[in-house]
Amino acid sequence: MPSPNQQIRPLTAQVNARGNLEIGGCDATDLVAAYGTPLYVLDEVTLRTACREYVETLKRVYPGEALAIYASKAWNMLALCALVHQEGLGIDVVSAGELVTALQAGVPADRVYLHGNNKSVEELTLALETGVTLVADNWWELHTLTELGVSLGTKPRILLRLTPGIECHTHEYIQTGHLDSKFGFDPTNLGDLFTFLEGNETLQAVGIHAHIGSQIFELQPHQDLARLLVEIYAKGLHFGLPFQELNVGGGLGISYTESDDPPAISTWVETVAAGVARACEALNLSYPKLICEPGRSIVGPAGVTLYRMGSQKVVPEVRSYVTIDGGMSDNPRPITYGARYTALVANKPEAAPTETVTVAGKHCESGDILLKDIQLPPTEAGDILAVFATGAYNYAMASNYNRLPRPAAVLVHDREATLVLKRETVMDLLRQDHLPERLT
Ligand SMILES: *Cc1c(COP(=O)(O)O)cnc(C)c1O
Repeated sequence: MPSPNQQIRPLTAQVNARGNLEIGGCDATDLVAAYGTPLYVLDEVTLRTACREYVETLKRVYPGEALAIYASKAWNMLALCALVHQEGLGIDVVSAGELVTALQAGVPADRVYLHGNNKSVEELTLALETGVTLVADNWWELHTLTELGVSLGTKPRILLRLTPGIECHTHEYIQTGHLDSKFGFDPTNLGDLFTFLEGNETLQAVGIHAHIGSQIFELQPHQDLARLLVEIYAKGLHFGLPFQELNVGGGLGISYTESDDPPAISTWVETVAAGVARACEALNLSYPKLICEPGRSIVGPAGVTLYRMGSQKVVPEVRSYVTIDGGMSDNPRPITYGARYTALVANKPEAAPTETVTVAGKHCESGDILLKDIQLPPTEAGDILAVFATGAYNYAMASNYNRLPRPAAVLVHDREATLVLKRETVMDLLRQDHLPERLT
């Protein structure tokens, strides 16, 4: 069985007896009739399968304690926080908004980690008041946390974010002395950092963290990272720091198109866990609590966006455009990163793909193209387009550009759809406006 992250479609996606695409036993045409378009659909089986592969592989291969935490910036909402918590994952958050959502979903504070390279004083205070662990990013944060800890009478529990100079690209990686990154401490100055923390009565530095990138398909950078982090971890222990946790970040890629070939979740976890375990054995260290932070590979493959197709335009000899009723506002990845996706006509999934078309959004930007030069059967206004692998960094990055209300989301499972995110309305947007009296 391939891992969820190795498949473009959710595990339950199939063509049903009515000849339509169904997900989680729910017919895509019924979903759009009930909930409208654009609609984000999340497949519960795919979500839970990905979570279990992380949790079970860690348990099977790592000799010490381990915890997978969902990097919720990929899609932070109550239902997802609650679901991954049910599967035994912790959560990482990067703002007060994400933090409050995780706690509100019932995730206990001791399984929540707050990241961020410029946390506000309000966010730091909230973290200390709620008792979550902070991933400290810079000296300003260490000084501020010390002051806040003293004034609130708490001992902030922190991991240290490091930028270990392992840089990843999709098909190559380079190792540099230190990395041009806005995140984390430069590992060339660890002596100063560890000395400061050793002499600091307020901060409890319980471990280290690094995250080297996202949508990564190679295993070697993570193997290198594991070894490097263990060496730094050992150095911290040597300075007398109360280290007990080692967090290797996330970054495992997923399949968006047929040409993507990421390793399985289990393979990635085996690589990281074995790398940390072997390095600890070589240095005669007891095993730290191993933490990893997958985001995209948990939620990406479970998501499908359903759109209604609209007008078409043929530019002879150049290009055929078909359009959808969403675009860069609900999925900014193509215009932001040139990201590629795979699509299917949900009400005729088995029709032969005989035409090369470009799927354009409805926004006032020529660059609002969701899929360029893909193969589809002949389509007409009213058809339903399903775009796969949209669970990660789609809703999370969505905007109201052109004053489009953001779509609804449903969780599908066993022929039932449950609304997990209400569709915004124009009234929701207008509610935030204020019209000064003198302009009326
Ligand atoms: C984004 C991020 C992750 C998750 O990355 P994915 O590629 O979605 O797995 C994990 N940790 C940190 C610190 C991040 O910024």
